[in-house]
Amino acid sequence: MPQTIKKLVIANRGEIALRILRACRRLRIGTVALHSEADRDAKYVRLADESVCIGPAPAAQSYLNAASVISAAEVTAANAIHPGYGFLSENADFAEQVEKSGFIFVGPRPETIRVMGDKISAIRAMRAAGVPCVPGSDGPLPTEPAAAAQIAEAVGFPLMLKAAGGGGGKGMRVVRDAAQLEESCALTRQESAAAFNNDVIYAERFLERPRHVEFQVLADTHGNAIHLGDRDCSMQRRHQKVIEEAPAPGISEQQRQALGARCVEACRAIDYRGAGTFEFLYQDGEFFFIEMNTRIQVEHPVTEMITGVDLLQEQIRIADGQPLRFTQEQIQFRGHAFECRINAEDPDTFMPSPGRITQYHMAGGPGVRIDSHVYSNYVVPPYYDSMLAKIITHGMHRREALARMSGALQEMVVDGIRTNLRLHRELAEDEAFMRGGLDIHYLEKKLGGA
Ligand code: ADP
Repeated sequence: MPQTIKKLVIANRGEIALRILRACRRLRIGTVALHSEADRDAKYVRLADESVCIGPAPAAQSYLNAASVISAAEVTAANAIHPGYGFLSENADFAEQVEKSGFIFVGPRPETIRVMGDKISAIRAMRAAGVPCVPGSDGPLPTEPAAAAQIAEAVGFPLMLKAAGGGGGKGMRVVRDAAQLEESCALTRQESAAAFNNDVIYAERFLERPRHVEFQVLADTHGNAIHLGDRDCSMQRRHQKVIEEAPAPGISEQQRQALGARCVEACRAIDYRGAGTFEFLYQDGEFFFIEMNTRIQVEHPVTEMITGVDLLQEQIRIADGQPLRFTQEQIQFRGHAFECRINAEDPDTFMPSPGRITQYHMAGGPGVRIDSHVYSNYVVPPYYDSMLAKIITHGMHRREALARMSGALQEMVVDGIRTNLRLHRELAEDEAFMRGGLDIHYLEKKLGGA
């Protein structure tokens, strides 16, 4: 089948912009890097075939400006737009505008993004498809306190209030008993209205010691769907992932294949297209769906390392209308992989630490991969996410992958700004982490107690 995508607009920045660019090179697709005034000098912008400045530094005026992104595609005569992660990647209205303007959107159909973007409708769709979900209110919590209290009693305490339109770890609140319910509902609604312009909330049983385990899927437009196994992303701070690994420790191959097959069936049920992730909480041997991400994720490289599949290339090929190149049987898991997110932040206060990187030295050696857009003399702008680099390591087994990570972290030099390298070095040598299978609270407890 001839390739339709000839020139692709990279509607993102940082490491993922470079990652998309690399995939396009392999597929012989021309690239247009979009950038704000603050990212003008980024090297990946110069590596791209063309570049367009889409506005001033603040994201709202550049990377989040749908009209600028689409007109950049028009003026460069590109025919596809890749949104990366964050920014406009899960914005159904944007995806719709892209398609209505005659461009290929690298992602699912806008209707799918809409259904999955509302956590309540996503949970309903997953229940209908036979995916196990966290027991909960099965719909919005009523605003009337007595009616809400009745539903909350049925869910049971402790429970978690969640914003239907939530994301990025915001709009969530644990409620320990009925006395706190009314006030907690009001606060969560307020936060949710302010952050997501949507005050619908729902309640879910609060799991005390879960792990975060997610499944990667790929689905094409010819009715083929596969899963690429799981990732464990339990090492979190403020609901944000810090370290990820694949496969998730302690999950049997039988369990993995069984839940993976359910995710594949769910893809068929919702007519999914592209790369996606089903996120679950895992506790006492059971999986509970929490949400679906309808985009490529930060942690996709750990899956690439253990499967040998280039997920970005596959995602772009699917958008191009090509059939999947792999059957489920051809997906073989080999070894173990870790990813550490290196952020420009103070290691103690976690405050962002933008500024000039005076010295940058990348780690290397067998089984080490670095996905990063930074270099010596690069200035980390203060306007965006603080992630500088992802260190990814692979080994024949978990112990080897972690030893390689520890070595890579020792080698890595980032001077001039503060980073969380020290925290990662400590974690790579942490005895409990070395054993594996820790729950989502481990990291915060460790930090709190340190
Ligand atoms: P977001 O879309 O903001 O990322 P998620 O629904 O994916 O929100 O949840 C983010 C994190 O919050 C999870 O990885 C987990 O750490 C925690 N969490 C979510 N739901 C629950 C729950 N029912 N019980 C306990 N922790 C939860």
